[in-house]
Order: sequence, then structure tokens, then C-alpha cells
Amino acid sequence: MALKVGVIGTGMIGQDHIRRLTQVLSGVDVTAVTDIDATRAASAAPEGAEVFATPQDLIRSDNVDAIVICSWGPAHEEQLLDCIAAGKAVFCEKPLVTSEAAALKVMAAEVEFGKRLVQVGFMRRFDADYRRLKAVIDGNTLGAPLMYKSVHRNASVPEGLYTSEMPLNDTLVHDADISRWLLSDEISSVEVRVPRRSTRGTDLRDPVMVMLHMQSGAIVDVEISVNISYGYDIRGEVSCETGVAALPNRPATVISDQYGIRQAIPEDWRERFIEAYDQEFREWIVAAGQGGATGPSTWDGYAATLVADAALRAVDTGAREPITMIEKPEIYS
Ligand code: NAP
Repeated sequence: MALKVGVIGTGMIGQDHIRRLTQVLSGVDVTAVTDIDATRAASAAPEGAEVFATPQDLIRSDNVDAIVICSWGPAHEEQLLDCIAAGKAVFCEKPLVTSEAAALKVMAAEVEFGKRLVQVGFMRRFDADYRRLKAVIDGNTLGAPLMYKSVHRNASVPEGLYTSEMPLNDTLVHDADISRWLLSDEISSVEVRVPRRSTRGTDLRDPVMVMLHMQSGAIVDVEISVNISYGYDIRGEVSCETGVAALPNRPATVISDQYGIRQAIPEDWRERFIEAYDQEFREWIVAAGQGGATGPSTWDGYAATLVADAALRAVDTGAREPITMIEKPEIYS
């Protein structure tokens, strides 16, 4: 029987996930949607889906087995707590929540429930290139990972939608999560360096360089440029004791013309990670069908939140800001 899914938040990524749940993947039906903007919810609703006035009504509906949260970050805490209270599996887009206190609250509720219900939308972990890179590191043929370079370039961000802190509290979470996952390590402190600001368009603090110090002593350097114009360019390279492993360039048609020999670059995250999003939901549908979750957990969302907070502190202090995590609850080990 198909998993009956309710989607909260029918903006940009909510609509893209509804498309994949209804047109790409099997074993799933979108039976309900809701959005603060009722008109947007109604126009995004697939045929036959009920449009609910509030997330709470959707979560409690008998016609919803599992929930996908695509609202904006500050709304996630309440919606996650309601899903856990209802005992329903929930896929939550990143960020899990927007404060350490909220992450601890969600984690406490899930631990009290007694098993994982929450999966966080860190889709890079489902990307075939990242999975092959991790397999090389875990295979240990190159020795221990010592340094990782993560490049996160976005063509542009909609003007006025984000505060100046967006690169650190919204974008960095992906690099933080993939670093922890690739290196099987935790982040113990964070430094931020702010170069000359790009004059392109907005008042964002852009670009930024972030240094993540891992518990093992490995160091990750992250370049975040969110307004770089030429495309969505994601790179990663791990330097190990006896060799280097890197993400490949994405396969693309090679064009030769008067401008030279060139390949197209993805326009945005939807294009670059299209298969990763499909795979993340493929695996979630199976786990949620069994009343649980797989992959990135509330613990991982908590870790990413701490990194974002530490990065914002580091901008102000100019210092290396430490991260202190609680002891990992059993359900996340
Ligand atoms: P968006 O286009 O602004 O969509 C968010 C939608 O949720 C909007 O329609 C918004 O309505 C609605 N909403 C806000 N608060 C709500 C609430 N309390 N209850 C119900 N609906 C609510 O944003 P987006 O780009 O789709 O991003 C949504 C989430 O996905 C964010 O957390 C974002 O960080 C994440 N995201 C993840 C990735 C990824 O790579 N994994 C990529 C993009 C986005 P209003 O516009 O009226 O406020």
C-alpha cells in the first residue's frame, strides 16, 4: 500500500518535492498539503489531495501516514514536535531548526518517543559522487583524511529574501554536515574569515571562508559564495596521508565553438542534486513506511545548528569558537 504523505510548505522546494513524489517515485501518494498561503497550497496540491488550513490539522489527519516539512526554518520546531507527538515519520528540510535550544527540544521529544522518526534533508549524503568519495575514504587506501576543501558556490540568491547572515546560518549547514559524514568525525571549533565583499547586488556577507576544526585534528576549509553569477558549482577534495580524492566534474556535453571548449554548469541546486533528492526520498519512503527514518538524523541537524551558531559568533569575535555537544543519545548511534 502506498505511503500517504502530507506536505507542509508549498514554496520552491515544496513544489519540487511534490513533483518528485507524484511524478518520479513510486510507493507514495501526496494526500494532503498546507501552506500559510492557502492559494499557493491549493495550486500546488496534486489531484485528490486535501488542502488543510493548518500544519496541525494536516499532521493529525488519518489520511496522512508521514509528513514532509518544507516551510521556512523558524517554523520547523513546532511542526516537528507536533509530528513526534502524533508518532508519525517526518522528513524535514534543512535546517532542522534555527537554535540550539530548539534542536535539544526536538531531540528530547524523539528520544522520549523511543526511536527515530525524523530525517533531515541533507541530500548530499544521497548523491552518487559523494557516496563514492566516502567509500574511498572509508576504504582507507589513501590513509587517514587530513584536510577537506569544500566549495559551495551559488549563482545568486533572491534579493531581500535573506539576512546578511544567510551564508553562515543557511548555506554552511550543508558543508558542515557533509564534512562530518565524509570524515566520520565531529566538528570541535569554527573560525570565519571575511574577505573583501562582493559588490554584486545585496548586503549579504558574501563571500566567506570558514575553517572547521574536526575532533580528529583534521581541518576543513569551506568557501561559500552565494552570488557568484556563473552557476551552481559544488566541489570537494579530501587530502589524505598518501593521496587525494575529489568529486568529479559533472558529466556534461562538451561544446567547442568560437569561445573555446566548454561544459555547462548547473544553474541551481535543483539541477545539480536532482538524483540525490530522488534517492533521499526513495530511501525515506521505505523507512517512513516502516514508521521510522534513515540517513541524516535529528542529531545531525543539531550538530549543523551548533556549527551555524558558532560561525556567527566567530564573525563577531574573530576567534576560533568552540562547539560543545551533549552526549549522543542511544537512538542516534
Ligand atoms: P520558500 O519558497 O519560501 O517556501 C517556503 C514555503 O513555506 C512558503 O510558501 C511559505 O509561505 C511557507 N511557510 C512558511 N511558514 C509556514 C508555516 N508555519 N506553515 C506552513 N507554511 C509555511 O522556501 P524554499 O526555498 O522552498 O525553502 C523551504 C525550506 O527548504 C527551507 O528550510 C530551506 O532552507 C530548505 N531548502 C533546502 C534545500 C536543500 O538543498 N536541501 C534547498 C532549498 C531550500 P510564505 O512565503 O507566505 O511565508
